[in-house]
Amino acid sequence: MPYKKFVEEYSLYRKFKVDRLPPKTDQLPVVQVNMECPKCASNQTFVMTNKYYENCGHTNFPVEGLVFRMVYMCVHCQEFERVFYVKVDENRECLMKVGQYPAWEIKGDANIEKLLGEHSGYYRKGLICESQGYGIGAFGYYRRIVEETIDKMLDEIAELLSEEDLARYQGALAKTKETTITQEKIDLVKDLLPPILRPEGMNPLSALHSALSEGLHAGSDEECLEFAGTCREILVFLVNQVAASKAASKGFTASMRKLLEKKAQKNC
Ligand SMILES: [Zn+2]
Repeated sequence: MPYKKFVEEYSLYRKFKVDRLPPKTDQLPVVQVNMECPKCASNQTFVMTNKYYENCGHTNFPVEGLVFRMVYMCVHCQEFERVFYVKVDENRECLMKVGQYPAWEIKGDANIEKLLGEHSGYYRKGLICESQGYGIGAFGYYRRIVEETIDKMLDEIAELLSEEDLARYQGALAKTKETTITQEKIDLVKDLLPPILRPEGMNPLSALHSALSEGLHAGSDEECLEFAGTCREILVFLVNQVAASKAASKGFTASMRKLLEKKAQKNC
């Protein structure tokens, strides 16, 4: 699998879109992944030790609709294994895990849970739903977190802006208080994000806006699962990044102050 992120992060039944996969099992690329090894008690590189075609009868088996097995072994201890079952769709445009051992980890990220505070219960429930493929539930929980934290988050973003950007932002921020609809709030400020919150030119608020809107119209668990995963990733990014930037700028101000005080003392 050329898709490290898919193997490492995707929960069961969440669709992973791909450009057309190669047509035969012996042409599928093999990728290393980095995951936790409980035996080594750390993150380790895992390599695939079996072949995609092991149960197919011949090596160049067509991949359309196929369910194949991937066995990954920790290169450090050479003992701990992770096993995945993956289904290819009929058009070779989509992969989906249909089995995984050990189970997809419902790993509450201690840092995120602390930052989310009273909302962390919903975060954990969202993860549990995701792990079972309950997309509608997961989406509902993450959406609730966004709704409950959006005002605070937008206020905190204001603290990261330069003075000239701040004036524009604050005008928009004031308007966000006039609506109770989360998507409208996001729409008002999404184009005013500071560069520090735009990794590689991407705009997480725009992405969150469309995930929330599209997720509301998604019918099945399967469709919702995709939007739920996107919401979670963006939420984690924003919460982490806002907190890190605030801490960094606080540190910056403190060290600036120290420097200035030193200078002032020298001048006396
Ligand atoms: Zn290991």
